[in-house]
Amino acid sequence: MPVNEDYFRILRGRFAGPRFNAMFLFVTSRCNSLCRTCFYFDKLNSRDDMSFDQIRRISETAPPFAKLWLSGGEPFLRPELGRIVPMFAENNGVRNVNLPTNGLLPDKIFAAVDEMLAGTPETVSIDLNFSLDGLANTHDAIRGVPNNFVRTIETMRLAAERYRGVKRLRRNVATVITRENHQEVVELGLRLAENANLSGHYFEPMRGQGPDPALKTLTRERLAELHARLMPLHRHYARKLFDYLPRPARAIAMAYYLGNLRLYFDIHERCLEAPEKWPMRCTAGDTTIVVDHDGKFRSCELREPVGSLRDHDYDVRAALASTAMRTEVRNISHANCWCTHSCFIHESSKAFPRVQLFAIPYAWWRDRSKRSLELSTEETERFRALEIA
Ligand code: SF4
Ligand code: SF4
Repeated sequence: MPVNEDYFRILRGRFAGPRFNAMFLFVTSRCNSLCRTCFYFDKLNSRDDMSFDQIRRISETAPPFAKLWLSGGEPFLRPELGRIVPMFAENNGVRNVNLPTNGLLPDKIFAAVDEMLAGTPETVSIDLNFSLDGLANTHDAIRGVPNNFVRTIETMRLAAERYRGVKRLRRNVATVITRENHQEVVELGLRLAENANLSGHYFEPMRGQGPDPALKTLTRERLAELHARLMPLHRHYARKLFDYLPRPARAIAMAYYLGNLRLYFDIHERCLEAPEKWPMRCTAGDTTIVVDHDGKFRSCELREPVGSLRDHDYDVRAALASTAMRTEVRNISHANCWCTHSCFIHESSKAFPRVQLFAIPYAWWRDRSKRSLELSTEETERFRALEIA
């Protein structure tokens, strides 16, 4: 594995200043779930997905960028998904692909992932995120599909078998924290860490406007307590992520990774109930573009579309340079829309060396200094067992 080359590339990226680095592409509006958390629910199953040729044109006209975030709908309902990823790797130099799945369609998932792995070089990593929003009853009630939890767990088991040893495919779980599941997310995290052999488990407070806004009701204090209780879980996954590194390098990599997470959590807590300024400006629209399933484009997933690629012949450079997008970027600076969206916090933080050099190490140090938490004795024992395992 080209470890040194990879780390130097990442470091160079962190100190290069704001530049276009990520595309969020909604590959389809089709979905077979009914999530009460879904901020895209009013656009689902609308039968106006872009054609494959239009997506190809997007890839051919976009500047080089490192990170492709795929979304939908359920991305695996897009028949050409397995071809779309290699196309962006080849045309745009994409190095990491990150996509969610509800885990309900194992045959489609495996067919597309096989195609992605076969069609991309070893240097391209794929983060496949299974959505689990609670233990069985809670998950099924939030996502509106009977037996969803059991079916997703089975898909995860099959994926673990099928892709054992494929290190560039990271099998993660993503959990949306809501009013209905916050009491059980630590238990969910522990059970999965003990049994599912995952690469990572990520937690986000519900964002945007879903069909059931009451699910968003959560206090900042409760979220802070949850974050503190979940940090041992993140340390567990950080150890797994960097276990191939020699000891001193592993310690530095873990500290940086955990410092990043802690910074995101601090922002989540501060912006949960009302917008509060981030430690850096939001670079949405400069370092990122969001392309909806029908070709509309936006600066970020939580703001309204500013135009349609249709009007720019699907030319991404033209859309990024358009008056509408430039005005949008200027508007963001005084829109006071500070949110909890980790993907955009991540993309923005990478653009500012002072965040990399000071805010992230400081977040890590603060986390270390408050390590005794409100864990039950049983939870403490289970986290200890994970550390030894
Ligand atoms: S959150 Fe995802 S899986 Fe759920 S309804 Fe929305 S698009 Fe479908
Ligand atoms: S702060 Fe949040 S809502 Fe505002 S532009 Fe950035 S990502 Fe979008």
